[in-house]
Amino acid sequence: MFKEKIRVLLLGGSLTDHGSYADGNYQGYPVVITTESTVYHVRINAVSTQDPDNAQLAQYLEYQKQNVKHLADYSCTSTSALLTIKMPAVNGNKVPDMINSVVDPLIQYLHGGNYQPCCESCGSTQEYLSNYEVNGSYHYLCTSCAQQIEQNLQQNQQTTRAKKSNLVAGLVGAFVGSLIGCVLWVLIYRLGYIAGIAGAVTAICALRGYELLGGHLDRKGVIISTVMMLVMIFFANRLSWTWDAYDALKDEGYTFSECYQYLDNILDLSELTGSYYSDLFIGYGLTLLCSVRRIIDAFRTSSGSYRMKKAQ
Ligand SMILES: [Zn+2]
Repeated sequence: MFKEKIRVLLLGGSLTDHGSYADGNYQGYPVVITTESTVYHVRINAVSTQDPDNAQLAQYLEYQKQNVKHLADYSCTSTSALLTIKMPAVNGNKVPDMINSVVDPLIQYLHGGNYQPCCESCGSTQEYLSNYEVNGSYHYLCTSCAQQIEQNLQQNQQTTRAKKSNLVAGLVGAFVGSLIGCVLWVLIYRLGYIAGIAGAVTAICALRGYELLGGHLDRKGVIISTVMMLVMIFFANRLSWTWDAYDALKDEGYTFSECYQYLDNILDLSELTGSYYSDLFIGYGLTLLCSVRRIIDAFRTSSGSYRMKKAQ
């Protein structure tokens, strides 16, 4: 995540760059740096017997937030401080100065207050700490906390998988949910656009609908909601085209339902079948683009799957 010439200047070159995060021991404290859109997150674990629950540390950070330019935000727990530092808009060479100007005073404060490096979970200062990835975030933990957290994740997976949803109620929920997206699709189409965003709304509402009425979004719920979404988008596109055909043919005495019924013939006669299907496929493409992340996430949550490993 940092170029080498940046990394060596950052916190005295003490961190190792792992691509998506950097970690290491800076002046005795475990430090992890991650990025999120336009900010850096710097996590440092420390406790002091003179500062129960890090209340004073939080006060200090609040003061720093008011007075240190690059410190955009912070959060403080009883075992760690999380600093949010804005990335420079243009000049990447400023990164070390910006991060150092926030972290160095904090480290001095920690040394001055006899803060000790600690496990982020239990706060123990006696154990050997390693950096663990837990569902995409990074935490310095002692071995027994790491084992405990992994056990909890396993247990959670088992209970999540054991939960069953009500299929019929869920189906109704997914239908009603995707209907909302479907209406939005037709309306946006009337304005002259193919509505990938309405496709995403269809996906979200279908999943949410299944969860609300079915009681729980399990794996079959995700699959059913996704299929429902695809079917409903087919109908949304068909309704949109029917509406166009109706606009063109109503003066000749055709009703809306006749236009719907004979849409294929109308398309054929007006040589628009190709455009119709290209709209449909572009619509599906945009929908998948906008919603695939959410569907994968829903699937992952529904199966209780998790990621935990020692970071290296
Ligand atoms: Zn621990």
